[in-house]
Amino acid sequence: MTALRPSRVVIDLAALRHNVRLLRRRIGPSVKLYAVCKGDAYGCGAVAVARVCEEERADAIAVGDPEDAITIRAAGIRLPMLAYGVTDPQLAGEMAKLGVIVTIFDHDGLAAYGSAGSEVDAFLELDCGFGRLGFTPADIDAVAGELLRTPSIRLRGLYTHLAAVDDPVAVAGQMTLFADMAAALQAQGVNPPERMVASSRVIAAYPHLDLNAVNPGRALYGLLEGRYAQDLEVRPVISGIESRIIQVKDLAPGMRMGYGGADPRPGSPIRAAVVPIGFAGGFPRNFTDGYILVHGRRAPIIGMMSMEHTLVDVSDIAGARVGDEVVLLGRQGSAEVTPADLAAMTGLEALEILPRLARGLPRAYADVAPDPSTLASGS
Ligand SMILES: *Cc1c(COP(=O)(O)O)cnc(C)c1O
Repeated sequence: MTALRPSRVVIDLAALRHNVRLLRRRIGPSVKLYAVCKGDAYGCGAVAVARVCEEERADAIAVGDPEDAITIRAAGIRLPMLAYGVTDPQLAGEMAKLGVIVTIFDHDGLAAYGSAGSEVDAFLELDCGFGRLGFTPADIDAVAGELLRTPSIRLRGLYTHLAAVDDPVAVAGQMTLFADMAAALQAQGVNPPERMVASSRVIAAYPHLDLNAVNPGRALYGLLEGRYAQDLEVRPVISGIESRIIQVKDLAPGMRMGYGGADPRPGSPIRAAVVPIGFAGGFPRNFTDGYILVHGRRAPIIGMMSMEHTLVDVSDIAGARVGDEVVLLGRQGSAEVTPADLAAMTGLEALEILPRLARGLPRAYADVAPDPSTLASGS
């Protein structure tokens, strides 16, 4: 079916495959790979991503929203699924029926899962200094006692999320707490097999913290920046944003254009093009120093973005016509807008802006391995 709206975000599943394989090579065959698919797989589509993770032999996936877990199972994906903690204890019975590995992060949850009426696989989340979810050292004795009395909770492992990955001293301190809590549990007879502390940047920068399970998210999607992107050469999965020109118009000098009434060429006529993509798709409204690519050249955005439209200045791009493809992310001719360019233009981290755009726009999936001969020619 032809899409009636010409705007789309391209999700490159071949890049995702590359990233899963790269992570697998990095961690080795015996470390479990929990592929993080929360937030609708960082905007890339939970089912499409989970399917690729299954094909590429991830050991499990991790979700935030339990609704995503239901959708993924309904699509026939059988991989084990870890659900991060997002529900309140009253829903323990329903969570236990989903067939996921639940996260238990406090005493209420422990009691609720213990009396949920069915057996449940679980991870304990430990708080080693994030201050978000998880048991603290003061909880450990009571937790161990309660777990030993509750055989219906099948404990699969312990995990924590390291909060200050840029700071090796903080990471070392948090790991000491993690090891101490794990040892205290073990001393009381609670010794589940899996230990997981490594999100993407931890895998990149602290290889000794792979332990025996890891849970990368942003690395899977090629959303690493700075030195982490150098340590782990992942490819961007949200690889393109494209639309088409739907109107071109010549405007007399002095006309103020768009919301905010911009006049980018005072005293001169302007040729403007209208593109049907706007802040409803996830762009910041005030994106006034931005540009998009038209005929492989930069066309500056005029004024503030509208909800569904953007005006661009094509005065210098002779031949810009209705129907021409425009590129807001990705390559066009010899020009390119990289994820870092888009992050700089919007003033948002790639981790924030790209998944938001992928959620806000129609998605088109590409999944073809690039032909090495075309790569060699540099086209
Ligand atoms: C989101 C999340 C991760 C993955 O983090 P990335 O930085 O995207 O790799 C790992 N663990 C927990 C608990 C998370 O919430």
